[in-house]
Amino acid sequence: MLKRIAKTLGFKKKRTASGPHIVPPGSHPIVPEDMSRGASEVVSGLEQAGYTAYVVGGCVRDLLLGLKPKDFDVATNATPEEVKAVFRRAQIIGRRFRIVHVRFGREVIEVTTFRAHHTNSPSKDKNLSRQSKEGMLLRDNVFGSIDEDASRRDFSINAMYYHPTDNTIYDYADGLQDLEQKTLRIIGDAATRYREDPVRMLRAARFAAKLDFQLDQKTFAPIPECAALLGDISSARLFDESLKLLMSGMAFATYQQLCQLELFAQLYPQTAQLLDDDFYQALIAQAMRNTDARINNRQRVTPAFIYAALLWPPLVEQRKQYIAKGDSPLYSLQQAGSDVIHQQIKRTAIPKRFTAMMKEIWDLQARLNKRNGQNAARLFSHPRFRAAYDFLLLREQAGEQTEGLGDWWTLYQEVDEDEREAMIAALPKPKSGKRGRRPRRKPKADHAS
Ligand code: ATP
Ligand code: MG
Repeated sequence: MLKRIAKTLGFKKKRTASGPHIVPPGSHPIVPEDMSRGASEVVSGLEQAGYTAYVVGGCVRDLLLGLKPKDFDVATNATPEEVKAVFRRAQIIGRRFRIVHVRFGREVIEVTTFRAHHTNSPSKDKNLSRQSKEGMLLRDNVFGSIDEDASRRDFSINAMYYHPTDNTIYDYADGLQDLEQKTLRIIGDAATRYREDPVRMLRAARFAAKLDFQLDQKTFAPIPECAALLGDISSARLFDESLKLLMSGMAFATYQQLCQLELFAQLYPQTAQLLDDDFYQALIAQAMRNTDARINNRQRVTPAFIYAALLWPPLVEQRKQYIAKGDSPLYSLQQAGSDVIHQQIKRTAIPKRFTAMMKEIWDLQARLNKRNGQNAARLFSHPRFRAAYDFLLLREQAGEQTEGLGDWWTLYQEVDEDEREAMIAALPKPKSGKRGRRPRRKPKADHAS
């Protein structure tokens, strides 16, 4: 595939005086049939209504690399309102960056209006252009030409426009050359672009990992010093970005990139502090690898599991403090869990449905050992048993000694009722005497999440 791209680089592309490289049909591997139904219909619908429209971004990049695009994005000179008027099932979304979602069955096409540069004179309309003192774009809704739009995109490989009607690629920022050289290069001055939108740094880590590309020197250099700007991004947006980082099937490579670029600590400050510890380091790496394996095997994954693993190191440390104060192991685990979640949601706003599941997975770590009597059967029928069991195996894979608890539960699931009873009968008897809970102090208000 890349050889075919190289061919286009070698002699088939044309360069207009100041415009893009034009790569005509036959000189690149994309054909109009590669477009999804939604992408084709959005482009043709907009063109029939008198606008221009191109397929752009990750789908062009991925098709050139022989990868299956995750989604299709369309760029047009029609304003969001004009786009909405063309399609029945269209919805304008976003305030910082207004776009239109056009729905075709289960497919959603993101349609963006060509963006332009922001002038220094402040805009009268605060919904079009607004910038923070640090240079962050709080509103990025100034519309412009396709040339301007290309220079407002993040990386050169994401600034290639494909026109299905003439089957031609318009490469505005030497993206083809960077694809060939496996280089991720930001468009424009890197520090300025990261100040405008610090999330671009996370995107750099994600694309470098996904595509196995190197960041070019100028793209890489300002990241560590700009990393703290991520503190200005809303926790809701960072949670969404964190899912793209963790749930793409390349979580381990992405995690390594995030650490190398000193971005991991921005997203997970409590965990980052503990990564010097070999066990914690192994646990996080293993959680990422397991998630990738599941995604690549088309098994179900939940953000709750990976977040439960990411926050396990600070939870264990925090729990020690409660235990040292005399609290029971289970109570200490629950309180420590609430504490670490309370801190984490300031960075990434984990929705309640996931934090609830994380707490259940953690809770069960303290209870999986209590197998006597009816306990094992009760635990086995718990809706989170499977996730908790996987989590136990993860802890063991990372090197934690659990006296064979994982193997015990593996066997328990494989055998019949009689053998289960025998397994339980063979367990050491629970220590007698203390049946009730240890008296505990009232939880302090500041520990409640
Ligand atoms: P994928 O969909 O595979 O994750 P993508 O490159 O398509 O990758 P999207 O988030 O779908 O990423 O964005 C579509 C395009 O919009 C990008 O390719 C890029 O051109 C542009 N873009 C997205 N986010 C930004 C940003 N923060 N700054 C500048 N341009 C962006
Ligand atoms: Mg995309």
